[in-house]
Amino acid sequence: MEIAREVLMLERVPAGALEQPEGGPRLSTSLICQTTRLAASPRSCRTVMCMTTITRHEVVIAGGGPTGLMLAGELALAGVDVAIVERRENQELAGSRAGGLHARTIEVLDQRGIADRFLSQGQAMQVAGFSFISLDLSDFPTRHCGLALWQNEIERILADWVGEHPVSFYRGRAVAGFEQDANGVDVALSDGATLRATYLVGCDGGRSVVRKRAGIDFPGWEASTSYLIAEVEMDEDPAWGLRRGPRGVNAVGKLGDGKRARVVLVEPEVATGDEPSLADLREALISVYGTDFGVRNPTWLSRFSDMARQAAAYRDRRVLLAGDAAHVHSPAGGQGLNIGVQDAVNLGWKLAQVVNGTSPESLLDSYHAERHPIAARVLRLTLAQTALGRGDDRTEALRDIVTELMQMDGPRKRYGGIMSGLDVHYDLGAGHPLLGRRVPDLDLITEDGPRRMFSLLHAARPVLLQLSESTLPDAAEWADRIQRVAARVDASWELPVIGPVAAPTAVLIRPDGYVAWVGEGTEQGLREALTSWFGPPA
Ligand SMILES: Cc1cc2nc3c(=O)[nH]c(=O)nc-3n(C[C@H](O)[C@H](O)[C@H](O)COP(=O)(O)OP(=O)(O)OC[C@H]3O[C@@H](n4cnc5c(N)ncnc54)[C@H](O)[C@@H]3O)c2cc1C
Repeated sequence: MEIAREVLMLERVPAGALEQPEGGPRLSTSLICQTTRLAASPRSCRTVMCMTTITRHEVVIAGGGPTGLMLAGELALAGVDVAIVERRENQELAGSRAGGLHARTIEVLDQRGIADRFLSQGQAMQVAGFSFISLDLSDFPTRHCGLALWQNEIERILADWVGEHPVSFYRGRAVAGFEQDANGVDVALSDGATLRATYLVGCDGGRSVVRKRAGIDFPGWEASTSYLIAEVEMDEDPAWGLRRGPRGVNAVGKLGDGKRARVVLVEPEVATGDEPSLADLREALISVYGTDFGVRNPTWLSRFSDMARQAAAYRDRRVLLAGDAAHVHSPAGGQGLNIGVQDAVNLGWKLAQVVNGTSPESLLDSYHAERHPIAARVLRLTLAQTALGRGDDRTEALRDIVTELMQMDGPRKRYGGIMSGLDVHYDLGAGHPLLGRRVPDLDLITEDGPRRMFSLLHAARPVLLQLSESTLPDAAEWADRIQRVAARVDASWELPVIGPVAAPTAVLIRPDGYVAWVGEGTEQGLREALTSWFGPPA
């Protein structure tokens, strides 16, 4: 959909001139009219009216990477009029970037009924690790252990899913700036057009224009190491696998086509700029391996570092941040894409409820409160992993100890839970261990037959699940917002890291799959939980 940006110079405004032009934007438009009196000649004054047609959306997302795509899907499921502005002309990605999905990310995709699309294209495998020390999750109570799948495939599948929903795309254009007022945000695009949004979400990556224009601080740690990453051909067979050097881990791996290699090399000195040369790559190869293996024909050559920064606030009034726009760090442990997608799933339903008028704006504060600590923890863990990745004798000795520790049950479960995202716990107060944690994907027996728990969340609507013989808890005043389901669970309730927990008699599940209230034989606290998460009673 093209934005109509018209500047009409009129002597007088003829009737109908302010109507929306045919073939114009599908969505409602507003007309900014400026009337200026110009002296056309010393003896006459003409009225000149400039009209700019501005396209309106309830939510505009800057950036259609994994985070922006997931958020758009979530908002569209909730009936929100959402648009993505994406700088790239299409979803093609230069280079492979992220290599997979952790267990919790696959679970959130499963909650929407789309996990199989990803699983069928990748290789299900345990991907959780800490500084290349594998963490065995095989005894974790989840249906998903992890998935090896390159980011370009992940984005393609996400974009196909988004394409099945009414989401507007402005491709080949960038968000250049914005102005927010009490009622909305004017979003300026690089082609001169303007979009008017009720909310703007910056999912525009680590160098986020939205974050910078909002003036949100991005404190953290400068890079201590930089790496070259490339996809190349080589005349000679390289030294496949990992090679630890004094400053970190180098890696050469085969790409899917079996001919090209993906190379990650620690640079001798910290460098900046994301356009290194083939000469830089040759030099780095020689410094690590003593040869450049006849490297040639790079299809991707870039640089990343272990810089770690996090937005001080994820929201400034009508502007929010998610994904890399809110946090950047080293790829160690493969967290960035995963936590970005989970930011989107946390924010989507909340923003939808605020836009739809069912919840007050204060609900959005819980987005920062819940997601900021998760990324803060990831940042600290990437610092630790980078430190542990160095190859000097002292660090090697420390690695031996950490490797041994990670094989012990307690540390393995604790760090396996963190790296897989399965241990996420939002602080919703004291109570049953399920409160604030993800609901397990148990098999349910419902009146309509067997169902999996996650299937109840496909429509991204809250669920009040009654699990005892007694009558359904009274939530009639929220009947327009929540699904009420009665079911029986024969299996035991078990949480990752924590272990078995007492079976609840009812649970209130948020659209992101986290438990907002636990019934333990009474309805105590249910009305408060319904009100605070899903708005006041109708
Ligand atoms: C070498 C490497 C390996 C990695 N490995 C992993 C891994 O194994 N696992 C993992 O989870 N993560 C990994 N990551 C991190 C992962 O790639 C990022 O965290 C992820 O891409 C973040 O997604 P995002 O949508 O938030 O941001 P991005 O992917 O950066 O997407 C931002 C989008 O916004 C667009 N954009 C930018 N500015 C504008 C603008 N002004 N207007 C409009 N559009 C704009 C961009 O074109 C882009 O499409 C790796 C990263 C690197 C570099």
